[in-house]
Amino acid sequence: MAAAASRKKITSFHPPQRVLMGPGPSNINPRVLAAMSLPVIGYLDPAFVEMMEELKTLLRYVFQTDYPLTYPISGPGSVGMESCFVNMVSPGDKVIVCRNGVFGGRMIENVERCGGTAIVVEDEWGTPVDPNKVEDALKKNPDARLVAFVHAETSTGCVSDAKLIAEIAHKHDALVIVDAVTSLGGSPLKVKEWDLDAVYSASQKCISCTPGLAPVTYSDRVVDHVTNRKTKVQSWFMDLNLILNYWGNTTRTYHHTAPINGLFALHEALLLLREEGIENAWARHTRHYLALKAGFEAMGLQFLVKEESRLPQMSAILVPEGVNEAAVRRTLLSEFNLEIGAGLGPLAGKVWRFGLMGYTAQSANVMLCLSALGSVLSSQGLPIKVGEAEAAAHQSYSNQHAKAAQQARQNALVKA
Ligand SMILES: *Cc1c(COP(=O)(O)O)cnc(C)c1O
Repeated sequence: MAAAASRKKITSFHPPQRVLMGPGPSNINPRVLAAMSLPVIGYLDPAFVEMMEELKTLLRYVFQTDYPLTYPISGPGSVGMESCFVNMVSPGDKVIVCRNGVFGGRMIENVERCGGTAIVVEDEWGTPVDPNKVEDALKKNPDARLVAFVHAETSTGCVSDAKLIAEIAHKHDALVIVDAVTSLGGSPLKVKEWDLDAVYSASQKCISCTPGLAPVTYSDRVVDHVTNRKTKVQSWFMDLNLILNYWGNTTRTYHHTAPINGLFALHEALLLLREEGIENAWARHTRHYLALKAGFEAMGLQFLVKEESRLPQMSAILVPEGVNEAAVRRTLLSEFNLEIGAGLGPLAGKVWRFGLMGYTAQSANVMLCLSALGSVLSSQGLPIKVGEAEAAAHQSYSNQHAKAAQQARQNALVKA
């Protein structure tokens, strides 16, 4: 068997061209791919060091903050998550962890592996974190110094009120650890204004960069918290004090080999966001979500999350009765080169997840998705009239254009 398998001739790998409308990675702008293919240089090359400083400036812009300690960690979003926990949670610490989807569950796992105790605030999957429950948990556990929650829960497409939760935590003398993996670049996230403490994200969602980098930003309170630890951070690689010898402002010494070309890519991806303007990027995600939503509704499909708590960049749609969930995803991929996401955990088999993240959030993809999904669902026997969803999406775009034009005329009048 092994011998037969090894006889297959190995040639260069050329991935198929896909439209990535799942929970990440998202499609990547050609400018970012081009930046990645530039020649490698050393991680202490003065030219590279200069680029690192620009990266920090660009990251502060997309995070909407001025926290000096803002940099990309070498590793996926999960390493960003783990870095926050290993640095901030000492053995014996109590941490309030909010769980309303998959990623809150992973936070609990992180707290326990750091030797801490997780006080879990549960909310139903598909609903936001309830700030009242967070406050109750803090009152019952006055010794808890940390509150961890997911801002944009990718497993359900639900957003929670990060500003309010941080306010409550601070009132009780606790810091917040915020998962902004899916929110960064896709929907409003204002780290400084909302007074968030440790915030981590990932490169491959609404930033639309190559996977494997985790932007983080830490308030001064986090720095105090970490420097006041009584015990060593148990991870050598993630220890903030050591990494700062490379990413800090003063020293530049070897810690680990930075993913050089990935950082070229991140620089370009962030630059694209700055050229567009972060508010415009948020608005773009909403514009395309509204068109996609109009199309879904025209097909009679339903969302998992109530309208007021939905993320524009991630929509969980209930699988209609009698439809083979996995077969739909398979056909979208094989016939239309379109990747969408499956449900996770208790939502497995019950929802599809449609991402409109970063560079993927454009009208051509919305139209392809509606057309392909309509085709596949109607061949599975759903009463779908070909073209109706696309027409609804077109109508949504044209209504939005009309509204924007009217707004522009009003603004011009106010100025005049
Ligand atoms: C994707 C995701 C992660 C994990 O990121 P990886 O890059 O896959 O490790 C964590 N939290 C949320 C909310 C995510 O969507």
